[in-house]
Amino acid sequence: MSWEENVRKVVPYTPGEQPKIQNIIKLNTNENPYPPAPAVAEAIKIMDVDRFKKYPDPSCSVLVDAIADFYNVSSDRVFVGVGSDDVLAMAFLTFFNSDKPVLFPDITYSFYDVWANLYRIPFKQIPLNEDFTITKEDYFGENGGVVIANPNAPTGVELPLKDIEEILQKNRDVVVIVDEAYIDFGGESALPLIDKYDNLLVVQTFSKSRSMAGMRIGYAFGNEKLIKYLSDVKYSFNSYTMNTPTLELGALAISNRDYFDKTRNMVIGTRERVKKELKELGFEFADSKTNFIFAKHPDKSGKEIFANLRSRGIIVRRFDLPRIDEYLRISIGTDEEMDTLIRALKEII
Ligand code: PMP
Repeated sequence: MSWEENVRKVVPYTPGEQPKIQNIIKLNTNENPYPPAPAVAEAIKIMDVDRFKKYPDPSCSVLVDAIADFYNVSSDRVFVGVGSDDVLAMAFLTFFNSDKPVLFPDITYSFYDVWANLYRIPFKQIPLNEDFTITKEDYFGENGGVVIANPNAPTGVELPLKDIEEILQKNRDVVVIVDEAYIDFGGESALPLIDKYDNLLVVQTFSKSRSMAGMRIGYAFGNEKLIKYLSDVKYSFNSYTMNTPTLELGALAISNRDYFDKTRNMVIGTRERVKKELKELGFEFADSKTNFIFAKHPDKSGKEIFANLRSRGIIVRRFDLPRIDEYLRISIGTDEEMDTLIRALKEII
């Protein structure tokens, strides 16, 4: 027998391409085109590096307290991790420990089935409707947990908060995770519902609306009992979960409310304009409440448009998956970048 027979074999998540070359317009992984809050750059310049010889604070309290303060919740209802991927992975491991399947949509963030497989969690993927909406009743049956990305990715479609609440009402005895990676671009957050539902975990990130994908900061809100269970699992892996500069810079970034509002409103404004221009070019897409638009063209294949854009140095995202292989997911960049994109699309179509 070979040792390889005992290896746990997984099909890993395929992240969006992060090209090394400069001078491209990168609209493929939903990053924010604007820099982090100015206070972050200033703090880096004067950072006292001598402290890095010590381990970081395992409770991450600087960052936890800053997030709690910004959202006006108590610190024992906040959990932080290395990007929301880390937070979500730990949440899957902590809360989905039943023989019944965890439910999530078919067409959603493609890491969910990777974690479920890795941790041997039974799961069932429920197809989205033709227009990419979710039917809430699909999530009312017996299950081992529910995960909803809201707004959903890569479709951009929002499930109304009242539907999320109905799903919570029908699932009192399992944990419901609402992944709000894109919530700051116009969606309605489930955060206020954590007071009412002790089985709700709301997950957010610094990677999109806070321009800090490279720092890897994610966080979650939930009842203090839920957060305690999550922390116990997380610290069983690595008690020093985040590093000292990230904790401090994250706390600074989240304290800057004006900059956050200004840049996310710029992204929303650009998105609305680009929607109109894409429509004029004949593109079809569901309404997006995110910093990307998921669009297809009735006369031109997605593969062809993708390749043509790429040859011009514009990178968008395409998924080789059933039902959505004609679609392109276009992240919202600066106005200038989007002008270049639209000019290119006019030539291609
Ligand atoms: N959830 C969703 C729905 C996402 O699209 C992403 C970004 N790829 C994430 C979570 C993870 O983001 P991060 O780890 O950068 O916080």
